[in-house]
Amino acid sequence: MAFQRFTAPDPAAHEASIAEHRARLAAAQGELARLDATADLAALLTTARQEAEALTLLEPAGEAAEALSHEEAAGWFWNAYATALQYSDRRAEAEPVFAKALAVSQAGGWQRLQAFVLQHWGRSLVEQGRLDEAQARFEQALALRRALNDPRASSTENALTGLTEVRRLLHGSCHCGAVRLTLPWLPETATRCNCSLCRRVGGTWAYYPVGRVVIEGHPEHTQGYAWGDKTLTTVRCAHCGSVTHWDPLNDASAGRHGVNLANFDPQVLASTTVRRFDGAESWTYLD
Ligand SMILES: [Zn+2]
Repeated sequence: MAFQRFTAPDPAAHEASIAEHRARLAAAQGELARLDATADLAALLTTARQEAEALTLLEPAGEAAEALSHEEAAGWFWNAYATALQYSDRRAEAEPVFAKALAVSQAGGWQRLQAFVLQHWGRSLVEQGRLDEAQARFEQALALRRALNDPRASSTENALTGLTEVRRLLHGSCHCGAVRLTLPWLPETATRCNCSLCRRVGGTWAYYPVGRVVIEGHPEHTQGYAWGDKTLTTVRCAHCGSVTHWDPLNDASAGRHGVNLANFDPQVLASTTVRRFDGAESWTYLD
């Protein structure tokens, strides 16, 4: 799930700006000017969903950024680098890079940069389900932006509101409430399967590593059903019958299990890409 990812309001103007910045980078003289131009162009490319190209620009310039770490441009560079990693689904690798960007901003006292880094880092943390850490980053960013009288404070306020909403959406339950589930993060994709069991259950499955979803009321209020080669148990509430999740019975699931998104606020399903899986025959995705 991308949390409040920024989209350029005017795509044509954004493309024009990318073209200008390409020319600026091509004409840049000296290490510092090149670093500065690289950071700006990469940030624009990532906003335009061209994070792969952003990374190819950023990767070779890491050494120059280390050498120039006393310059504000280095902080913007690391922030652009971390953000490109984040949106390339390499969020764990982005963590130390965000930390570098923050360290540069703190050492130089560049508060506008510091607030940017905290805000971007917070979003990446939300996307990893690290909500308390994200909240701390947003609160620090908000304090800085308010002190600077920066109009971007409203975007940080939106992030905090969005975070509260994410916390709410992560909580689900069976119909009677005896079984309660808390997801570690909102899913990006889910699966609807047509196998003989799934089509009867009507579940929409999001997959999580076993142990990351907090499940209360299980097994004391649940019943399980295993069938066929007994690779998994489908779990339902013993009182209301809602199917909440399935658990693996062997290693075939690679440590994952499925959670039925029907037990959550409809907004969770609405914001998740649902794929159709042909579990009945070909055992492949149909879309
Ligand atoms: Zn129930």
